[in-house]
Parts: sequence; C-alpha cells; structure tokens
Amino acid sequence: MGTKNHQLHIALFPFMAQGHIIPVIDMAKLFVSRGLKATIITTALDAPFIHKKIENSTSPVHIFTIEVPTLEVGLPENCQSLHLATSPEMQIKFFKATGLLEPQLEQFLQQNRPNCLVADMFFPWATDVASKFGIPRLIFHGTSGFSLCATLCMFLYNPSLQVSSDSETFFIPNLPDEIELTRKKLPDFIRDGVENDFSRLYDEGKKAEERSYGVLVNSFYELEPAYADHYTNVLGIKAWHIGPLWIRNEGAKEDKVSIDEQHECIKWLDSKKPNSVVYVCFGSLSNFVDAQLLEIAKALESSGQQFIWVVKKQNNDQENQQDWLPEGFEKRIEGKGLIIRGWAPQVKILSHEAVGGFVTHCGWNSTLEAVCAGVPMATWPVFAEQFYNEKLITQVLRIGVGVGAKEWSRVAVESVKSDAIEKAVTRIMVGEEAEEMRNRARGYAEMARRAVEVGGSSHANLNALIEELRSHDIAHE
Ligand code: UDP
Repeated sequence: MGTKNHQLHIALFPFMAQGHIIPVIDMAKLFVSRGLKATIITTALDAPFIHKKIENSTSPVHIFTIEVPTLEVGLPENCQSLHLATSPEMQIKFFKATGLLEPQLEQFLQQNRPNCLVADMFFPWATDVASKFGIPRLIFHGTSGFSLCATLCMFLYNPSLQVSSDSETFFIPNLPDEIELTRKKLPDFIRDGVENDFSRLYDEGKKAEERSYGVLVNSFYELEPAYADHYTNVLGIKAWHIGPLWIRNEGAKEDKVSIDEQHECIKWLDSKKPNSVVYVCFGSLSNFVDAQLLEIAKALESSGQQFIWVVKKQNNDQENQQDWLPEGFEKRIEGKGLIIRGWAPQVKILSHEAVGGFVTHCGWNSTLEAVCAGVPMATWPVFAEQFYNEKLITQVLRIGVGVGAKEWSRVAVESVKSDAIEKAVTRIMVGEEAEEMRNRARGYAEMARRAVEVGGSSHANLNALIEELRSHDIAHE
C-alpha cells in the first residue's frame, strides 16, 4: 500500500435506475482499462444487466450486491429499481428506502477498503460514510456541466421566488449565457417552495457537493467550456469532465459481439438512405399517457418521415394497443416506420448513418449519445433536469429545436399536440436549418472523439484525477 505502483481500488455506487447505472458501468470499464481495480455496488436485480455489459471486459469489473430495504418503507420487497416504483408516492418511498443503505455501504467499505468512493448524487450521506474511512468521495450526477451550473445557481439564488406567476419568465442568475425559464419548467419541489422529501434530498445533495472531494462529469470540455470553467472557477466546485464515458468502450471487442447488433432494427436501418430516419425515444423511465402517444403517432405519420419509435408501455396487453395508435396505423406505416416495444439498442441506432434526427426527452445520456452521433434533436423534456438540458441543446449548442413542452411533470401527461411534434420533426430532418444543425452536431461529435484520445481533454483529466487519487492514497498511509 501507499507506493506509486500499488493498484488503486475505486468503488462505484450508482442509483438504482438505468440512466444512472449505464454511465457508471462505462466509468468502471474506463478505470480498469487504466489499470485500476473497480467494484460496482448494486442490487441483485441490476447485477445481471451489469454482468452482461462487463463480461467480456479485458480486466474484470467486480460487483458487490446490496439490497434496498424496501419492505421497511412499505414497498414490495422486489421493488429494487426506480422504474418499478410506478407512482409518485412509490417513488418517494423508494428514495426513502435508498436512504437506509448506509449500513450496507459501510460494511462494504469496512471489508474492502477501496481508495475512493464514486457515489451517486442521490446518496448525499455517502460523503460522511466515506470520510469515516478517510477516503475521498466523488459525486456522479450523470448530467451536463451546463445543468450542474444551472441547478446550483437556482439553489443559491432562488430567482423563481421573484416572479408572481408560473408562466412569467425569469433568468437564471450568474450563468455565462442568458437562460430564460418559467416556474412551470422547474421540479415541483422547487416551484412550490414547499419543504418535502424531494426538496430535502435536493438540499442535502447540494450541501454534500460542497463537502465532497469533487464531481465527475460525463461530458467533455469542448462541448461546454464556459460551463466547465464556471462550475469550478466561479461556483467553486472541483470537477473532472472525463466523458463521453462509453466511447472508448465502443470499439472494444465485447461490443462487436453484442446481441444488440443483431436487433432487427439495425438490419432495417441498413436498407435506408443516410439521414432518412428519425429516431423517437424518451429514455428508460418516461411513460406517456395513451392520448399523448396517439398525438406522436399522428405526427410521425403526417410528417412523412421514416421513423423508429420506442414505446415503453406497461401492461402492454393486446387489447390496449389500439388505444394509443390510430386505426390501421401499423399497416399503413409498414416499411416506413418501426415501433420497438421495450428496450432499443439506442447507441447503435443513433450512430447508424440512416438516422438523421432524434426526438428526445433530453435525459443526459441520450443527449450526449446524440451529440456523439452528430444527430440534431427535437427536444421534449419531461422531468428531472431535462428542461436545463433542453436549453443547452437548443440555445447554447444550437443543435436542436423544442417541440414546445412547457411543464415539468413526474407523470408524463398529454401536453404536446401532433402539429407541434410534426413541425419539430420536419425542422430537424429536412431543409437548410436541419443541415446546419447536423453540421454543428457533427463538429461536436468529432470533438468528442478527440477528447477521449491520448492527449485529448477527457483523457488528460482522467490522468490528472488518477494522479491526485494516488497522492491522496500515499498521503494517508
Ligand atoms: N436506452 C436504451 N434503450 C432504450 C431506452 C434507453 O439503450 O430503449 C439507454 C439510452 O441509450 C441511455 C439511457 O438508456 O444510455 C437513458 O438515459 P437518459 O439519461 O437518456 O434518460 P433516463 O432514462 O435516465 O431518463
């Protein structure tokens, strides 16, 4: 221990949701590719998914299993992932249950003594647990540098309290650009200013950010330099932009034999012309009501564009299918459109040359995947920090246009009409504006590729982080 060559051990503790776990798997693979040991702390439910993604990794990524004590908060024992908490009430309980994981984390740290803990933003208490063992705790938010700055400035200055209605606009203070918002686009616990479980978790998260060792960002410096600098130099939080995390894994052997590639949609895309298909998917959680799905279906058909549309419907029984599709829809769109019910190989789809546009909920992973594929976006934020990411895409990077979503909502209600959806789809797929956005997006994709190469910004940031952790380790021997 404590010598320059001793192998550093990084423990990674993601929140129990796909959007949080996926980038952490890539982060773990990245650490092991640099000769470090990595262990992902996760549930028995998510372990097989992670196993599948790491099984062919050249060096092993370890998994340590924990159990979310859901019974203690009145949830079923098997409700071990956020997507299984299907109502806002269940979600609150689920967050509460994850707050009870401290003893299990402590036991892991006690037994395994890693040199650093990378824990999710939703585990603010992990900072104190790590400090008991004298190890640095890094936070992983899984979002953009832009939205980290915006969230922190909203927390520090509360500009929404200065407007008198939910639709009156205000600017987020102390940001590099003039970013305009309305209260409607804010999470309910910020908008109403009422203290509840979510607002407490949010406050604790922001305070933990100040006390932690720093923040790891799945983004790259060249995408948002003003915000990367602002976060550290003005807002005072140390951060390492080390993404896009999955790119260096992309070309790896394991992905070449992935079953994703055999998905029928890839063969379907192979038969299409470049930039002729729009991809529509709203992440791993979003679950639109039938009336909204119907509006999407109408828009896709009337836009005349070819499409792949991923629909995550629960209770997907046969009788209900017609409720969200216009009469005879599937017959009419045969050959022109593909509906994927369930999980789609998104990275593969987005990077296929036939895909020319993406209708997205602006989850950060999806956003970054589109950036790296050089694909313009029609932005349709729903909840979480997605309304901030929309601003980054449409206003700062100018690689997308909004469909006109106006209200943050935990449950995706019917809010956008087919005309507006059709208009946005057309704007990102055809014409001069689409071409300009596509060119800009391609420019960012190229920058992303360079950032992760030897000598690139993300590569250098990761080196700097590893060196720092090594000196921390030596200093604490
Ligand atoms: N994803 C996928 N197939 C799907 C839906 C989602 O591969 O059918 C992946 C997507 O590529 C991304 C992640 O799941 O990596 C979703 O993360 P994001 O931050 O975009 O949204 P969230 O699910 O957290 O709302």
